[in-house]
This record gives sequence, structure tokens and C-alpha cells, in this order.
Amino acid sequence: MPDYPTDPDCLFCKIVAGEIPCHKLYEDDRVLSFLDIGPLSAGHALVIPKGHYETIDRVPAEDAAAMFRIVPALSRAIMRAAGASAWNLLQNNGEAAGQAVGHVHLHIIPRPAGSSRDAPIEGNGLPFNWPTGEIDHKKAGGLAETIRQYV
Ligand SMILES: [Zn+2]
Repeated sequence: MPDYPTDPDCLFCKIVAGEIPCHKLYEDDRVLSFLDIGPLSAGHALVIPKGHYETIDRVPAEDAAAMFRIVPALSRAIMRAAGASAWNLLQNNGEAAGQAVGHVHLHIIPRPAGSSRDAPIEGNGLPFNWPTGEIDHKKAGGLAETIRQYV
């Protein structure tokens, strides 16, 4: 038995268990990486902990560290293979944030050559619209103070 929690109904737990095949990129005792079956671009990969945790805020620090430890080497390999010079690291937590599978995962999304922030290659890239607001410094001080107390 693995020393991490599993959910028998979870798609990613089934991939970890080998019940569902994947295009594996990397594996160690705590982490698995494989190609996303719904890629935004060629080389779009996922990095997951082998343990079933829904969102990153529920992942034990050691597993979170294990996930991020592989990101530099894996992203270099993906960019090299995909011929990309830029990439996005995306991580969604909860349905409202766009999380589709309830097992925490990092997305490594290479930006194909010729794409740009505002003009991804059609059907092959990540549209990137980040409608920024403006910070309210009066409120921000109190918010930062509250967050510091919670950490
Ligand atoms: Zn799972």
C-alpha cells in the first residue's frame, strides 16, 4: 500500500496506480508527470503528487516541494522538445478557479514558436488575458497584516 492518500474514483489516482495509461515524462516516489490529454500546445504537461490532495493548500509541504523540485528540469526538457522559448506554469485550485480534476496538478504549458502573450497560435497556445486592477494601498496594508498573522 502506498504511504499517501488515494481516491479510487479519481482519474489521476487511477493514472498513478497504472489503471489508466499516460504518456509519462517523469516519476519518483512522490511525483508523477505526464502529457495533458487536452493540451493547449504540444508538450503541455502535468505534474501531480502521487497522493490525492484536492488543492495545493492541502498538500503537505514535502509533496509540494517534490512537485516544484522537478519543474526546472522538466520545463527545460519540454521547451527543448517543443521548440518553445517561453512557457507558463499554471495551477488552478477549486472549480471556480478552473480546476477540472480534483487532484492537485501543475500545468507546464510551452508557448509555441511564433506565439505571443496577446496572439497565441490559433488552437495551439494559451490565450493570456490578465485584466489587472489597481491596488488600494489603504486596504492592502490591513490585508497584508491579516495574511501575515495566518501564515
Ligand atoms: Zn487523486
